[in-house]
Amino acid sequence: MHLLQHPKDFGKTRMATVGGIGSGRSLHLGAAGKVEHWRAIDLANLRRMGLLKPIVGGRIRAIRWKNANGRLHELGIIPAADGIRFVKRNDEGKLVGVFVAYTYTPTMFGGYRNWFACPGCRRPARILYGVNSLRCRQCRGLKYASQSEASHWRAQRKALGIRRRVGAGR
Ligand SMILES: [Zn+2]
Repeated sequence: MHLLQHPKDFGKTRMATVGGIGSGRSLHLGAAGKVEHWRAIDLANLRRMGLLKPIVGGRIRAIRWKNANGRLHELGIIPAADGIRFVKRNDEGKLVGVFVAYTYTPTMFGGYRNWFACPGCRRPARILYGVNSLRCRQCRGLKYASQSEASHWRAQRKALGIRRRVGAGR
């Protein structure tokens, strides 16, 4: 089974990003795009759902969601020690995959916490957004619709900043 057609994204589609590698802005997306309109993949949720445990019996676990016109989509999750391989069927029914590596930040108590390394900018992200490519919120130019989410992230960033200062730093 050869899964990796494209090293960074699921394949070339109309949703291809403009501005070259790293800018990651989608053609059809304005800066006012809202997080809720995007399919989100949350590392914390994957862990909570047990999707990061090694695969047993060769059965790939998948997350499912319905798109705007009610069609069911499936995204297979293949966990590895250094990241996650996501697999899905493209429009032609071919299996395509993308590998998203982990990146690590030190915790206050000498451990490490893992994040997605955004395939667009390599910044640590807990949540990646998209269907044909996976990118962090900044790459997508997304804003949070609700204030509570925004403040949650501010608090999170603040905590990270503090950890960086007291940690060994990387
Ligand atoms: Zn990014």
